[in-house]
Amino acid sequence: MLLQEERELVVEYGKKLVQFGLTEGTFGNLSCYDPDEGLMCISPSGMDYFKTNPEDVVVLDLDGKRIEGAAKPSSEVDMHRIFYKNRPDVRAVVHTHSVFCTTIACMHKEIPPIHYNVAYCGDKVPCIPYVTFGTQDLAEAVYARMGDEYNACLLGNHGMIAVGSSMSFAFDVAEQIEFVAHLYYNTLVAGDSGVPLSQEDLNYVLGKFGSYRQR
Ligand code: 13P
Ligand code: ZN
Repeated sequence: MLLQEERELVVEYGKKLVQFGLTEGTFGNLSCYDPDEGLMCISPSGMDYFKTNPEDVVVLDLDGKRIEGAAKPSSEVDMHRIFYKNRPDVRAVVHTHSVFCTTIACMHKEIPPIHYNVAYCGDKVPCIPYVTFGTQDLAEAVYARMGDEYNACLLGNHGMIAVGSSMSFAFDVAEQIEFVAHLYYNTLVAGDSGVPLSQEDLNYVLGKFGSYRQR
């Protein structure tokens, strides 16, 4: 089986998306990319994460051509592919409908840097207006907003996307940005919108994150 390890990761982290409350039902999707093979593998469309097996994960080339796997690939394949084509640092993409990110996305608001964990994404979390799910237009709008600068983006009236250099990092970005979205929502409900960190403090954290964690 092609990309066996990567397909197993897609299955494992798909279950984690549900277990960590980061998505609802069969919504959301995830993929990873092997630059040596020039192939990506993505979760199947609309399949229960707990009934998905590695064989159900679809292997595609970066033109979207199916290479292995009989299932229908995620409807958001273009939104994943565009990052592998344009950002050499990105090896995994996670898309969720997590509640607090999606709440802020329904208001078409960005998340300001009210907590230093925003640095998992960048100096804030940008947001794009609504674009129909599963379209090339959505893929292009998300990539145009994130460029090389951000690791996450809110999708208006839809959800969020996170990218990373590995599946575990893309998942961490999705989890930490949901935490910051929850805090931001709390500040809004409390009638304040929080005190944003200064650019200087943020730059310091962005630098420190490079050496954070076990090696
Ligand atoms: P898929 O089940 O096709 O991956 O779509 C879910 C989703 O979240 C669409 O935006
Ligand atoms: Zn979605």
